Amino acid sequence: MSEKENEEKKDTPKNPFDEIQRQLQDMFANANINVMPAGFGFQQPGEPESREPEPPTPPADEKDPMDLIRKFFLKPRDIKDDLDRFVIRQDEAKRAMAVAVCDHYNHVRRCLENPDLAEKPYMKQNVLLLGPTGVGKTYLLRTLARLIGVPFAKADATKFSETGYVGHDVEDMVRDLVRMADDDVELAKYGIIYIDEIDKIAAASGGQGKDVSGKGVQTNLLKLMEETDVNLVSQTDMMGQMQAMMEMQRGGKAPARTMSTRHILFIVSGAFTGMGDIIRKRMNTNVIGFTSGMDADELDETRLLHHASTRDFVDYGYEPEFIGRLPVRVAFDHLSENDLLAILEQAEDNILSKYIEDFKGYGIDLTVDENALREIARRAESEKTGARGLMTVLESLLREFKYELPSTAVKELKLTAEMVLNPEKALRDLLGEHEHAQRDIHIQETVAFCARFEEQHGFRIKFHKKAAEAVAKIAEESGRTVHTVCERLFKDYPYGLKLIQNQSGKNTFSITPAMVRDPDKALSELIMKQYQANQKDEGS
Ligand code: ADP
Repeated sequence: MSEKENEEKKDTPKNPFDEIQRQLQDMFANANINVMPAGFGFQQPGEPESREPEPPTPPADEKDPMDLIRKFFLKPRDIKDDLDRFVIRQDEAKRAMAVAVCDHYNHVRRCLENPDLAEKPYMKQNVLLLGPTGVGKTYLLRTLARLIGVPFAKADATKFSETGYVGHDVEDMVRDLVRMADDDVELAKYGIIYIDEIDKIAAASGGQGKDVSGKGVQTNLLKLMEETDVNLVSQTDMMGQMQAMMEMQRGGKAPARTMSTRHILFIVSGAFTGMGDIIRKRMNTNVIGFTSGMDADELDETRLLHHASTRDFVDYGYEPEFIGRLPVRVAFDHLSENDLLAILEQAEDNILSKYIEDFKGYGIDLTVDENALREIARRAESEKTGARGLMTVLESLLREFKYELPSTAVKELKLTAEMVLNPEKALRDLLGEHEHAQRDIHIQETVAFCARFEEQHGFRIKFHKKAAEAVAKIAEESGRTVHTVCERLFKDYPYGLKLIQNQSGKNTFSITPAMVRDPDKALSELIMKQYQANQKDEGS
């Protein structure tokens, strides 16, 4: 190819599909595989809809996840009751979401029963959640999706760009939903998509938004929320293209190409910083008393969000059509110290219970007394990140305990407020109290090392009492585990013992104090002794 041709080729803007096609052709040039015709995975203008493959019939004992949707029977109160087990406070949000979800899935059920109904116009109950970080928005939705038995996908609106070439394209969320449904396209059609940080795509003209392409992303999202057919293989997803092609080669059937978003429930959320000013201005709150008695600005903001109207969202930088597609709006409450305490004490599966399980995994029983719980909640509240503060506080509080205690004799960790205030001292004291028992634990660990050694190398080894004590002492003084100390001391033993075994047939050995003191010297002496014994035998 001439230089000029080369240059021309470089300058021609590439259609991403052509590029994928070209790369696939290159890749399979030598394999006996035909690359699919151009446009595979994308519906071409005028091309008839492909027939979707028959869904595989599940084995008789496996429940069809669609059954839950076909027979959707839950009432708003059932859903609220279930949410109450896991989500503390946020009553308004729980009620509103329970109603929105029941309306949505009742409609879906009725459409499945009567396909004519599906053709009639219907205003979906897409939801807009308002509230700061860490107050349970994602958690509430995940809990809901699990309860209803539908897949759930979450994305941040900041990742999207208008074209999809720079950032992600909004349709990626639908493909994510299919992935979350384990590629069950039929089920994914009825899933929930949650888009966080929606406040970041307010158009710049609104004065608050940061993304200049916000308006374009809103338009794309609007299409998705209303109803559109999404290609399940993205134009930029090389792997997806290849996988689809392989499946076609194998089964002779084209996989489903598109999926309708008609029955997907969309939920968007944002912190809407600065929205308070817009609402305040509109309501002229200086003369209205509903903000009286609030001290923190942040509280002000959170409460004001309960009064947000369509006009406020338009002033914030949203297209009226976009905000109009989000008819259900719910503001989440700020979580107080008492709420955080209630999360620790009452919420099922809360973050503390995860730590309790982690410690249980090491055979350690973790308990936290009431004063300690309050101290944790107090500190978490001061982080100003909602319930995420609980994670931060628990992580920094328990990290060292989790690191040290599993290799000690400690089997119980009872946290008090004093320990929460000074965890370093608490850990030191605890280790001190168990110093004696620690020696026994180390000696037991030498036995465990022998068992692993036999499993890996086939030799039975046994420590002399004094040798085990010497190893325990090294471990204590060096701050290493018995396992690490033994691995280092006896790293050449599998090879050395093999030599002796070849000469003598022996496979049981004792670890002596001399071996711990100088393992290499002791091993070579043992090998030498065996050779000498053999020579003697041969000479006699
Ligand atoms: P966001 O509001 O930013 O979506 P998340 O729902 O992700 O916050 O909250 C982070 C974690 O904090 C959750 O996984 C959950 O463990 C806990 N959490 C937050 N809010 C609550 C709440 N109201 N009740 C119980 N746990 C909560």
